[in-house]
Amino acid sequence: MGFDTSGLLPLSDALQGMLEQLACCCDSEQQPLPEALGRVLASDIASPLAVPPFDNSAMDGYAVRLSDLTAGTPLIMAGKAFAGQPYQGEWPAGHCVRIMTGAPVPAGTDAVVMQEETQADGDRITFLAQPEPGQNIRRAGSDIGKGACVLPAGTRLTPREMPLLASLGVATVTVRRPLKVAIFSTGDELKPVGTPLAHGDIYDSNRYGVRAMLARMGCDCLDLGIIPDDPAQLRAAFIRADEEADVLITTGGVSVGEADFTKQLLDELGEIGFWKLAIKPGKPFAFGRLPRAWFFGLPGNPVSAMVTFDQLVQPALAKLAGQRFERPLQLQAIAAEPLKKSPGRLDFQRGILSQGPNGLEVHSTGSQDSAVFSSLSRANCYIVLERERGRVAAGETVTVEPFGGLLL
Ligand code: AMP
Ligand code: MG
Repeated sequence: MGFDTSGLLPLSDALQGMLEQLACCCDSEQQPLPEALGRVLASDIASPLAVPPFDNSAMDGYAVRLSDLTAGTPLIMAGKAFAGQPYQGEWPAGHCVRIMTGAPVPAGTDAVVMQEETQADGDRITFLAQPEPGQNIRRAGSDIGKGACVLPAGTRLTPREMPLLASLGVATVTVRRPLKVAIFSTGDELKPVGTPLAHGDIYDSNRYGVRAMLARMGCDCLDLGIIPDDPAQLRAAFIRADEEADVLITTGGVSVGEADFTKQLLDELGEIGFWKLAIKPGKPFAFGRLPRAWFFGLPGNPVSAMVTFDQLVQPALAKLAGQRFERPLQLQAIAAEPLKKSPGRLDFQRGILSQGPNGLEVHSTGSQDSAVFSSLSRANCYIVLERERGRVAAGETVTVEPFGGLLL
């Protein structure tokens, strides 16, 4: 409304422009399996084993040969097979083998009949139903074939991968060293938590959000604190970050006018582009190179800082860390109330997604001002409103993006 937004850079162009320039910058190292949680695999993991490694029983019951079974005639139990204690003896005709879940099936087994489908009279076992060939047998290699790629390079190890790797006997893995990220906040008004506020001061909240998101991503964080709006101190902080980290992320001071010396400094030290993105929140955003490190300058408004980190910085850091990154799921939901929106920017409004009587519905978290942090803290999703879309009436279908791992 009234603003010319034609010169703003679309989010997808900004993302593509960044990702094209970035490549993994983290060397690999060996880590024992338990210590590798949260780290990124540097190479594919091929299975050294078949899983399961041998044919085994899926049930507690009896191993049988189909040729021994005639309706109504019992088989004699020849012995027992337990998990970890295979049946070793002879298996004469007319006999079956008592078998427990996970025990290797004796050679020649056609099927395992579950205990509930049998009747035992001493060691004489009557089978109540005719088994299908292969029934209740887990075949060697049916889960994972020997040599199969089980996890590709770039996988970040979560609790889901740990037991998988352990099941393959993998004791150490080759992972990327963590990406080292320096951060600082800029602004004369900012004070750290735990100190009193003078008139005009506010607490520095962005650094806590950025630190938390970096922790979720498994990055090493070098926290340089709050740097006042002072060229000499800013310069020193930029130089230190560039010497010690792979990436520098700052918040504040990237909007026009007030941040002139930041821009001047960055022009002098590196090659930084100041972008005006066609997204809301998060219009001002800076990206570029210092002599060694990559630089991301996030807007100072707390909601904008979080949203631009989540949407833009996260995929970029993933690429630098060697991590495969999948775009988050987007779903369709019904707007439960009207949503304010002007055409011109892609909106990431904050919403509460829930299951309504007619499917998914989404409520707004209220004021969408980028300084109102409760709009984010109470939300569980973005309501993604297309660039050219105007206000949304209650009942219209909208795209929602449930928060991903960074914000949960
Ligand atoms: P700036 O981008 O520096 O112009 O800041 C925009 C708005 O965000 C101002 O109201 C700042 O006071 C506020 N702000 C900047 N940095 C932070 C921070 N680290 N924590 C909380 N608010 C901030
Ligand atoms: Mg500022």
